[in-house]
Order: sequence, then structure tokens, then C-alpha cells
Amino acid sequence: MNASAKGMPCALVTGGSRGIGAAVCRRLAKLGFAVVVNYARSVDAAESVVAEIRAEGGAAAPVQGDVGSKEDRQRLLAFALREFGRLDVLVNNAGITSVGRRDILEATEESWDAVFDTNLKGPFFLSQIVAKEMIRLIQAGIVREGHIINISSISAFAVSTNRGDYCISKSAIGMMTKLFAQRLADEHIFVHEVCPGVIESDMTAPVKEKYDRLIADGYWPIRRWGSPEDVASAVGAIVSGAFSFSTGNCFLVDGGFHIRTL
Ligand code: NAP
Repeated sequence: MNASAKGMPCALVTGGSRGIGAAVCRRLAKLGFAVVVNYARSVDAAESVVAEIRAEGGAAAPVQGDVGSKEDRQRLLAFALREFGRLDVLVNNAGITSVGRRDILEATEESWDAVFDTNLKGPFFLSQIVAKEMIRLIQAGIVREGHIINISSISAFAVSTNRGDYCISKSAIGMMTKLFAQRLADEHIFVHEVCPGVIESDMTAPVKEKYDRLIADGYWPIRRWGSPEDVASAVGAIVSGAFSFSTGNCFLVDGGFHIRTL
């Protein structure tokens, strides 16, 4: 076990190597969590997030794993427990967009399977095994309460006909959040969804010009790109106990995108 993290609560962040996930890792480390930084392929990026956290006196460890794989999910959980001895927070952040961004009349099953494995099956079954472990840790008095936070998207309710699989996967995260929130409240595990709007990251880099135009046109009231740190702030507030009588909420971090005007 990692001796420097003795007594620290532990958070597992999927897709912690880049973008929103990396910002969440840094934020949770600042809040005193030992952070398990999961990545799929970007080993260098994950190691640099870990190095940054350690340089600031925090505790973190990188672990490779595809959230779509059952074996990898079990390995992620086992790694967190081996490294830090407990698990208090799971952030289901890893996600991919629609492969090729094809119109739904041309969408492929390959993209559907890849998107659903990463964006929905992974979070669902990782939450399942993590929740069982959290229940055990809470009953043993090692963890006081658990938090599961699912990073959804405004695509859960805003239609993009060239990313149908992505939109449907994010929409389903809303129901998944409520299901786990209902099931786990008696176990002292609280489950929320954080719904980012348009956030500057590698995911949105290929469509930067389109979103620059939308922002200039005032497509959402707060006229700027969202930052990964904007999303990390919401996650940090939730795990800090700011919403102590809440579960199953959807926290929008979207610059007001959801407001409809006439
Ligand atoms: P990103 O910059 O593309 O980063 C994606 C992260 O997910 C990377 O760390 C990547 O790991 C990891 N990942 C991808 N597939 C994985 C898998 N199968 N197993 C484990 N890790 C995997 O994306 P982002 O913009 O930060 O998005 C993060 C989350 O926010 C996603 O769920 C996304 O849908 C959601 N979101 C983003 C926006 C936005 O505007 N950017 C808006 C709403 C919601 P590697 O580095 O190893 O590839």
C-alpha cells in the first residue's frame, strides 16, 4: 500500500489522463483525495497528471484499463484498493464521441458498440462492482460515505443527428444515475450526474470552429467555452459535501445552454 496516502480518502477517475478527467483528478487531489488516474492509451499524459499531483504534495497513481472490458474494470478496482486501501469516490468520466460523426442514416454498428461499451456499459458495471466494495468498506467503518459521479452531457437532451449513439448513451446515463441513487441511498452512497456543455478538450478540438461561431452568436448565455476546471469545480463541490441532502441530481455545467428563448 502507498504509505504517503495513509488515512486519505481515495477517488478513482476513469479517463483521468486528459481533458475533463485530468482536471477532476487535480481538483480531487487538492481536496485531499488520493487519486487513481485511469487511462486507456495515453500513458504519458496519465503519468504527467500523477507527477503534477505528487509535486504538489498529493497522492496519485496511474492505471491503464479499458472501462469497456470486464477484466479491466475488476483490475481498476483491485488496483485502487491495493494502492490506497479504500475507495470513497468513483467518477465515471471516460467517454468517446461517435466514431466518424456520421448522420444517423449512415451510422455504423461499430461506432454504436464502441460508444456504448465506453460511455454506458463501462460506467454501469464499474459502478456495480465499486458500489458493492463501498458497501463493504462503509459497513467495516473504513469509509464514511461513498460518492459516484457520472459525467454525462448536454447531448443527453440536445439532438445532434450526426452523433446519435453518443446522444443516446448520455441520455441513458441520466436513468442509470437515478437507478443507482435510489438503490444506494440506504447504503450511504450518493450518486449524481454532472452534465457539461461545450468544454474545450481534445474531444471538441475537431469542431472548434463550429463552436467558436456558436459562442460568437450567443448560442448559450455565458459567451465562452467551458473549461475542464469548470466541470471539476462541480465534482469537487459534490464530494466536499455541499449537497448533503441530495442524490440522483443532474448538475448542469453548460453556460446556460439549457435555457430556451422565444
Ligand atoms: P477527451 O479529452 O477526449 O478525454 C477522454 C478521456 O477518456 C481520456 O482520458 C481517455 O483516455 C479516456 N478514455 C477513452 N476511452 C476510454 C476507455 N475505453 N477506457 C478508459 N478510458 C478511456 O474527452 P473530454 O472532453 O475530457 O470528455 C470527458 C467526458 O466528458 C466524456 O465522458 C465526454 O463524453 C464528456 N463530455 C465532454 C464534453 C466536451 O465538450 N468536451 C461535453 C460534455 C460531456 P486516453 O487518454 O488514454 O485516450
